[in-house]
Amino acid sequence: MRARPGDTCYLYSGVPPSQVTVAKESLGFSAAHFLTLPGHVCERLHGHNYRVAVSVEGPVDSTTGFVVDFAVLKQIVRTVIAPLDHRVLVPAKNPLLRLSDVDGQTVVDYTRPGWLVLPREHACQVPVTQTTAEVLATWMAWQVWDALRTQGSRGLTRLVLELEESAGQSAKAEINQSDPRD
Ligand SMILES: [Zn+2]
Repeated sequence: MRARPGDTCYLYSGVPPSQVTVAKESLGFSAAHFLTLPGHVCERLHGHNYRVAVSVEGPVDSTTGFVVDFAVLKQIVRTVIAPLDHRVLVPAKNPLLRLSDVDGQTVVDYTRPGWLVLPREHACQVPVTQTTAEVLATWMAWQVWDALRTQGSRGLTRLVLELEESAGQSAKAEINQSDPRD
């Protein structure tokens, strides 16, 4: 029987689990960062044009036919990356740094006091130990995973987030349903 608007219908029951991916030009951000690796070229402040791609696996909803709505997934990624865009990423959990806020400025003590001083609004303190692509990707993956669950997605089995920091250079982080939240 043909379904009519307003009917409660389950057109997609029995569809096998599937995977959806968003990897669009618009899911990018520009940011500066540094690594606390003495002598490494990346110890110096420098920047990247990052791009994010996310794949999510799970059951196909029997009424919508979605694993997750693309629009919802894109909006979640945009919400995660917005605070990072055009900012200096400061790894707030890095044990080698001491961060303070002085007169509206974020002061980063590292090899010497005041190693880096920024207007507060130019800094984004990310709760990670290091801002490598690998570590950032893991943090972002959990942000996206938690946001999907908060907005009601249930039964998702796997999420893979790829963070590209320059063309052809990226890190992937994977979360499986059974992974413990650290
Ligand atoms: Zn870098």
